[in-house]
Order: sequence, then C-alpha cells, then structure tokens
Amino acid sequence: TKPLLNILDDAPLIYPQQLQLWQWLSDYYMCTEGEVMAAALPANFKLSSETVLLYNTDFGDDFSALGDEEYLIAEALQLKLELSITEVQQIMDATHVYPTIKKLIDKQVCFIREELNEKYKIKKENYVLLHPQYANEQQLAPLLNEWKGAHKQMELLLAYLHLSKTEGDVVQSTLLKKAQATTAQLKGLVEKHILVVESRSVDRIKSLPKDIFIDFELSTAQQLALAEVQQVFTQKSVCLLHGVTGSGKTQLYIKLMEQYFNAGQQVLYLLPEIALTAQIIRRLQKHFGGNITIYHSKFNNQERIELWNKIRTGEVKIVLGARSALFLPFKNLGLVLVDEEHDASYKQQDPAPRYNARDAAIYYGSLFNAKILLGSATPSLETYYNAQQQKYGLVTLSERFGGIQLPAIEIINTTQVVQKGKVMISPQLKEAIQKTVEADKQVILFQNRRGYNPYIICGTCGYLPQCTHCDVSLTLHKYSNKMHCHYCASIYPKLVTCPACGTNTWLEKNFGTEKIEEQLENDFTHFKIARMDVDSVRGKTAHDNLIQLFEQQRLDILVGTQMVVKGLDFDKVGLVGILDADGLLSFADFRANERAFQLMEQVSGRAGRKEAQGKVMIQAVNVKHPILALVQQHNYEQFFKIEIEKRKEFFYPPFSRVVMLTLKHKDKTIVDGAANRLALLLSQDLKEFITGPAAPIVGRLRNLYLMEIMIKLPKEAGKSGVYRKVIRNHINLLHSETTFKNVQVVVDVDPV
Ligand code: ADP
Ligand code: ZN
Repeated sequence: TKPLLNILDDAPLIYPQQLQLWQWLSDYYMCTEGEVMAAALPANFKLSSETVLLYNTDFGDDFSALGDEEYLIAEALQLKLELSITEVQQIMDATHVYPTIKKLIDKQVCFIREELNEKYKIKKENYVLLHPQYANEQQLAPLLNEWKGAHKQMELLLAYLHLSKTEGDVVQSTLLKKAQATTAQLKGLVEKHILVVESRSVDRIKSLPKDIFIDFELSTAQQLALAEVQQVFTQKSVCLLHGVTGSGKTQLYIKLMEQYFNAGQQVLYLLPEIALTAQIIRRLQKHFGGNITIYHSKFNNQERIELWNKIRTGEVKIVLGARSALFLPFKNLGLVLVDEEHDASYKQQDPAPRYNARDAAIYYGSLFNAKILLGSATPSLETYYNAQQQKYGLVTLSERFGGIQLPAIEIINTTQVVQKGKVMISPQLKEAIQKTVEADKQVILFQNRRGYNPYIICGTCGYLPQCTHCDVSLTLHKYSNKMHCHYCASIYPKLVTCPACGTNTWLEKNFGTEKIEEQLENDFTHFKIARMDVDSVRGKTAHDNLIQLFEQQRLDILVGTQMVVKGLDFDKVGLVGILDADGLLSFADFRANERAFQLMEQVSGRAGRKEAQGKVMIQAVNVKHPILALVQQHNYEQFFKIEIEKRKEFFYPPFSRVVMLTLKHKDKTIVDGAANRLALLLSQDLKEFITGPAAPIVGRLRNLYLMEIMIKLPKEAGKSGVYRKVIRNHINLLHSETTFKNVQVVVDVDPV
C-alpha cells in the first residue's frame, strides 16, 4: 500500500444519478465518458496539482556541498520548510529549476510531494458591528453627546448608525466608501471598543430576499389545464403542454413549480437560451424571489462551485438554466420543465457530447421518478407523436389569456418588389407599419439574415466573393464595412473592383437586418428603430437592454433575426412582419417545413398578446406554399397530420432514429476515400439504412473538406444499443487503416 497523501473530498462530488446520466449520454450520443465529464463537471473540480518541495529537517546546517543555486533554494526551504515550484521559479533562472531540484533531492536536502490545488475558496467579507457594550442606541447617546475623539471618527460612527438602520448588516468596504473614511479611522473606533470588525464567509452569488412573493390567479382555462397536467402525472412521468402563444404557459409552470417547491422538492426549469430570457427571469423572481437561482454560463469557476454545492445539499430548490443546467447535482429532483421544447438550441452541436437536453432531461428525471413537463406552442414532431402514441400525456391550452384572439395573418405577394431588386418592405407592409406606430403600438420585423447584403455578386462576370477557408459566400457588413464569413468568422476587406474581371459592377442580392434597418430609417425618419441580432448585441447586457427599451415602449420598431422570436412577452406589439418567408421555406433539410412553421408561428405569437388582437404580415413570392396557409390558420394539428405522413413515407424521425456521420479532412481525395470506405464497412451490417456518402451543402469549412453518411435506424426496442456498437466498431476499423487514420469522424445522434 502507498501512503495516503490527500483526501479529495469529504463527500462524493456527484450523486449516483449523475454518473448514470453521464454513462447514458456517452452510450446514447456515442462519445467518451471523458467528453461527458469534461462538459458536466465545473473546471475547478477537475484535478490539477502542483509539485511542492518539503525541507528535510534532518539535513542539518551544512550547506557547503551545495552549488550556488542549490544553496539559494536550500536557504529558502530552511526558512519556510516548503516551497511550491512557482515559488522556486521566482528565486532562480527558470531553465535550471528542475536540474537543481533533482540535485537537492539526491543530496537529501528535500523531498517532493504532489499537492492538489484548492478547488474552492470560501469568500470572506468584513462586517462592522457595534461593540456589545453599546448594544442599544441609548447607551450610545452619552458617548456621542460628550464626544472626545476626532471629528472624522464621529462622522464615521454616525454613517455606521445610519447604514445599519437602513440596510441591516454593514459591510466594511461599503461603510468606508459611504463615509469617505479610511481603515485607520475605523481602527480608531475599534480600539476605543465602540465598533468591532468581524470576518464572515459570504455567498458569491447574490440572491434576492427569499420572501418576495406576488401571487396571481390562473384563469379558468389555465386552472383546468393545470388539473389535467396533475392528472397525467398520476399515470405518466412526461406530459406535453401544447398551449398557443400567449396562453399563459409560464403562469401555469409557476403554479406547478410552487407545489413541488412547497413539498420540499427541487425543480429544474430549462430554457433554450439563457441570454434570451432575462424577461422570464424577472417574471419568475416576482413569485419566487431569492428561492429561484439562475445557472449562467457567465458564472466564474468559484461561483459555479458555490451553486453546485448548494444544489447538492438541497439548499437551492429552484434552478433556471440553459441546457448545461442538466448537469447540476440535484438531490431530490421532483419536476423538470422544458420550456419551448421544440427549440433547436437544446441540442448541443460542438463539441461532444452532442446531446439534446430535452431528451436527456427525460432520462435524468426518470432516475429520480421526477415529472417532466414539456411546453410549446409548436411542439416538435417527435414530441407530439409521442403524445399521440400516449407515451406522453397531452394537455392543450387553445386560447390566449384574457380571451384575446390569435393574430390575423395576411400573406403578401412580393414578386414585384423582389423583381425590382428593392429592399423587401412591400407597400402594404410599409403602410401598416405607419398606421401601427401612429396608433401608439409597436412593430417587430423578422428577417433571418444578418449583415447588410448576404450576397454580392459581380454584375459583369458573376463572380461571387467567397471565404478562402469555407465553401461559403461572404456577407457584407456595414458596421465594419467588411465582408464576413458567417461560418468561420473570417473577415475580408470590401472589394472595390472584381478580382475576376476588373469591373466595378457589384449587384446586391438579398437583404440582411442591417440593410433593412437602414431602409426603415429612411422611410420612417420620426420613428425609433432598433436592430437585434448577434452583431448588435455583442455586449453582456446589450440584449437585455434592448428588450427593456422595447418593453418600456421607448422603441417603435424592432428588426431582428431569430432572437426576436424566442418567448418574448411584450404588451404593445400591434404588428409583426415576416420579411422573407421563401428563405425560411427553402432549407434543404427534412425538417425545413417544421422549422419554418415553428418560426413563423412563434414570431407571429409576439403580436397582440395583451389588450387587442394583433396583425401579422408574411411576405413571400411563393404564396401558394401549403405551410403558409397552415400558419395563417394557426393550425398546428393539420400541419402535424400532413408532415407526419411525409416523415413516415420517407422513414425519417420520429419513425426512425438518425445518426449522422461527418468525415473531415484537409485533403479532398482522402475524405472522399474514407467516406466510401466507411460506407462500405457499414453496409455489411446496416446496408438498407444508409444514405450517402454525399458532400453537404457547405462542402468545406475552416479548410476541411466534409463528407456525410446518414444512417436511418429503425426504432426497434433494445436494438439501438446494438446498432451503436456496430457503428462504433466500423469507425474504429476505418481509423485502423493508415490512409484514413487522421480523418475526423463526427458522430451526431438525433441531429437537428
Ligand atoms: P405563453 O408562455 O403561453 O406564451 P405567457 O405565460 O407569456 O404565455 O402569458 C402571456 C401574457 O399573459 C403574459 O404577459 C402573462 O403575464 C399574462 N398572463 C397569462 N396568464 C395570466 C394570469 N393568470 N394572470 C395574469 N396574467 C396572466
Ligand atoms: Zn469561412
């Protein structure tokens, strides 16, 4: 046996359920357990250690046999008894550190030991209190009346009394700042036994008081729906709440959460993107105050650990977070809410584990016997299908809160506008914008492309500026006056003359949010206009600021990308415009229709949520597209019926399970060869399930050529583990061949 050097933790860091979740993720999403752990465990929990030198106290004082540098270290060691490598490096020339240490060990001056770094430091803060002899203010009055000390000290004391009266516990730094006093002056009062300073451990994450609580009542329809959900939960663990936009799903979640909270259980509220939902946080805090904690990607390592520990002990009961909140160490999870369950942001793209937090939440919840509520106005086909098959319960809320009608949708034919190459704001839309703002209402315009011109093309020879690292054309941005690659973020100077033919005849194709904002500013000089896309909201708070400005009606028109779609709740939006529906309907993907329906229905859902029915204008060239009519009728059920038939016919999810393999290599012939080889290997066992290999639409990214193989696996119970194993084995075989050993193979299970 070896000696025990250190005890890692007083209690295990993770619960058995977490380990089970990690193992499940690694198996189901076909990645290593190490990759899951890297994603799941806060950085400071991952062990890191430092080498420490320990002085050999038996060595004595005879340093005569030591060289100069050895002597320096030995002397310091004798004094301090131990030195870390970092400290040694400060004493001597870095290049000699290790040889010198080796000599010192050989001469038995010291030993070395590996020491684990401290993972978490308790944060301390100094608090100021009255000395016990002045425990009440009456005892203070004579002291103040016959003040003998310095004037400044009395000022400081008065400032203290004021602060403690108005704010309770007084923090030293706050007091000194308020009183513009120095530590020396405070020390004076402490020496006189008037004040005392006490160091206390404090939380890093500040939370609101726990007792804020504003209650509200559910409407009759909402109450009924809540009762139905509860009924479902007596029989099933998963329930879908299909509630139209503005039906009050969030309010229903709150009531449901309250029950689990009151019963002492933990609740996890998952949102697609935390940055987009500052609004929901404010709404929830009204009801739960400091009892609700947000799990942010912006937390630093120490904050992360603080929260981790509080969840592990069960002190924190309600957690709101994006997909990674799933990795928190819940102790007695009772309820998981997955808001906007259809949202693609629940799926992690890169790096592995490429998991879907919605699906993983269902698995994780089941380990606790927790209930899972999936909510959406536009459920994913997979989820709705599961509800139809009665695997999940289904509860429907088909009316908006307050009896307001869903918005009326008008479809506008923009063929002529497009032919003229004009910015895509039709005369009808323009007029509606004018009227809406004049009636003191607000407008949201949605365009799925950012930048100024998504394409510029040479009018003489047709040359299209492209990224040199990717097979992607460049987008012109006005704010930078440069061309950007939206795939690898490379930036290029704007071209004056065409590098192919030397002319200067650039044609602008298509319009991004920047250009639309510019056009709006020309058309409506008196309106306040803002843009919301990743370029305009780069700062930490920029996004929330914009939302608050819009909330307070200090903006008339908000134009933006997908960011304006998600779950936002404004009172005064009278009109929503979808500028380019054709662009949404033409994705080359089996989910194109689903995405388009969801996007359009969700953007429309921002209109007329309070007070009165809103209006939506959808601009399109292909006005006969069947999806448009379905959006116009807000007819999700019909949309589902049509779409599910197609999925069945072509054996797509939810009827099959897709595993997408993407091969990457800088050499086109190698990647092609590898893709063919892998397809051949796979076809030994999975022949009828394979599509491809084929190059994706963007065939080269960041200097790597790509090839894809799609595998559509049948969903036979118990078989899927076998299939995954087969796929894994064949990938390993491919990598055992010298030519292909450096070809990256990215495995994506259930891609979205
Ligand atoms: P959804 O999440 O279904 O889109 P929300 O929960 O955002 O709907 O509700 C829409 C709006 O109606 C919100 O502003 C919300 O505060 C309000 N609302 C919904 N239900 C109630 C209720 N029972 N009492 C008061 N306000 C409600
Ligand atoms: Zn690029």
